[in-house]
Amino acid sequence: KFISLEGGEGAGKSSAIHVIKTWLEERNIEYVLTREPGGTPMAEEIRELVLASRDEAVAADAELLLVFAARVQHINTTILPALADGKWVISDRYVDSSYVYQGIGRGIDKSIIDMLRSSFLEGCMPDKTLLLDVPVELGLSRVASRGDANRLDGESTAFHEAVRSGFLELAAEEPARFAVLDASQTMDNVAEQILQQLSLLEKT
Ligand code: C5P
Repeated sequence: KFISLEGGEGAGKSSAIHVIKTWLEERNIEYVLTREPGGTPMAEEIRELVLASRDEAVAADAELLLVFAARVQHINTTILPALADGKWVISDRYVDSSYVYQGIGRGIDKSIIDMLRSSFLEGCMPDKTLLLDVPVELGLSRVASRGDANRLDGESTAFHEAVRSGFLELAAEEPARFAVLDASQTMDNVAEQILQQLSLLEKT
């Protein structure tokens, strides 16, 4: 099984991954935990290129292609071999983050991302995408209260609102792939929502 996790700032992806890891280990299910951009040594180098701040402005299209190059490498080197071995793959972000961060964030047309997706990701889409949805104000306050505010990169509230609604729109377009989790709840409650999805997935 292939699961991706998506969500904006302070949605609780790290805690969610911890819940999933524990569940898999209790069942002795072999798994690979990975992330995007990244997931292979080369893709991690591309991640550094994309996420580092530098004096040179990075063209939006260049960023998109770098992220997709990393993704193709990730698929071939990490995801498909693990799935072929019968392992579960859990990816912290996947293509939906491109729709949101390169698409909405950097202004790239959705049709271009659709085109890259159908060219390179056919046959490697998640069985389930867990979207951790949290109101922007609550997400940002969580980030601030863990003293991590400098990771917010000065993005405006409007940007974070656009990220949130972007993810929700994607989920509405593909309701069978997405599970939208209410990440404004307590950790125990969110864990419960995740476990419910994992049991459903285990049965398919
Ligand atoms: O997963 P995490 O929240 O640590 O991601 C770090 C940041 O990487 C995101 O907030 C986003 O700004 C950026 N990112 C991106 N394009 C992607 C995936 C992530 O710009 N495709």
